[in-house]
Amino acid sequence: MTHPATVATRGGHVPAFSTPPSAPAVYMTTAFDLPGLAGFEEILAGREPGYFYTRVANPNHEAFVHDVAALEGFEHGVACASGMGALSAAVLSLVKTGDHILCARAIYGSTHQFLLQLQSSFQVNVTFVDTSDMEAVRKAIRPSTKLAIVESVSNPLLEVCDLPALKETLGSKITLIVDNTFATPCGLRPKDHGADIVWHSASKYLNGHGDVMLGIIVGEDEAMRKARASMLLYGLNANPMECWLATRGLRTLPLRMARVTQTANELAQWLAEHPRVRRIFYPGLIKHPTHGLANSLLKGSYGGMISIEVDGGAAAVDTIFQRLAPAIPFSPTLADARTTVSYPAGTSHKFMSQKDREASGITEGIFRLSVGLEEFADLKKEIEQALGE
Ligand SMILES: *Cc1c(COP(=O)(O)O)cnc(C)c1O
Repeated sequence: MTHPATVATRGGHVPAFSTPPSAPAVYMTTAFDLPGLAGFEEILAGREPGYFYTRVANPNHEAFVHDVAALEGFEHGVACASGMGALSAAVLSLVKTGDHILCARAIYGSTHQFLLQLQSSFQVNVTFVDTSDMEAVRKAIRPSTKLAIVESVSNPLLEVCDLPALKETLGSKITLIVDNTFATPCGLRPKDHGADIVWHSASKYLNGHGDVMLGIIVGEDEAMRKARASMLLYGLNANPMECWLATRGLRTLPLRMARVTQTANELAQWLAEHPRVRRIFYPGLIKHPTHGLANSLLKGSYGGMISIEVDGGAAAVDTIFQRLAPAIPFSPTLADARTTVSYPAGTSHKFMSQKDREASGITEGIFRLSVGLEEFADLKKEIEQALGE
């Protein structure tokens, strides 16, 4: 009789069966049992379908990449442990010491910090530029410029990037990476406007339920091959469970985006007239600086983010947050199914110098509302009560 130690150790048997599961399985496994030395070579060479080590590839990574690539109009992609992991995989596979990167001035705080770190540690040159000013972009381009990084819809002022004009200014030699986290492919597909690599923090809308940390880049075969090499060597790989959850989240992405756009648009129209609101940023409002681009590029899919400026700076924002909680919590993320609020100057853009923050227009009185799936009338009532004198 086999000893219980051996029986227990070798458990986890999966029976063979011919009825495929209606929902995908989760492959929580470090490695895959191989058919032999020759068979392993076939898998390594890509001649036989198969996997061998989850840091390199896993069916759940592939399922998630497949779906996001299809939504974004590409065929290839790399899933990573977070949005920042995906940016690292892309950038570290494309630049070397002495190269130059152009980055939008209005950019996610960690993207800004990542590039500064590349500059100080690896002598990669970085210029932050107002990417709505094509003359400024043209002037910033150098012979060594390899890469440009922008957000299709910027955080937190929600400015829509004029991607066609930017691509024309950059030309075909500079790789254009577009962070499409806010817009999602339901808003716009950056590939249709010249993006070479589309980047997402899948921790946000793609998953959409506030319970995953995941990132992805999608693009052409060769760029993704290089990025995959960086991903697996630097250990930026995603977790199969997170990919599984986000794959499930993706199924309702179009429904969620339509819903949050409708609710956010109604809230923004109402808030624009509210006496406590000094300035409001929502691409669906006629007075928003990029409303025209929001109509031509986003085709009215303005999304669920609204930024609001009130008088009184951080103290006033804090009072509003105290009144909104716990129904609408202060949570330093976005795109949860629930409505949340965040404070850019103190969270996503905290690590920017005061000067850089002000140059980006992110003042101390601005907070951002990530509109969720609740009923408009309930949200309006809660926000109205929190804004009250
Ligand atoms: C959150 C976010 C990121 C970073 O993604 P993580 O998943 O947190 O690493 C990048 N860009 C934007 C616009 C984001 O909102």
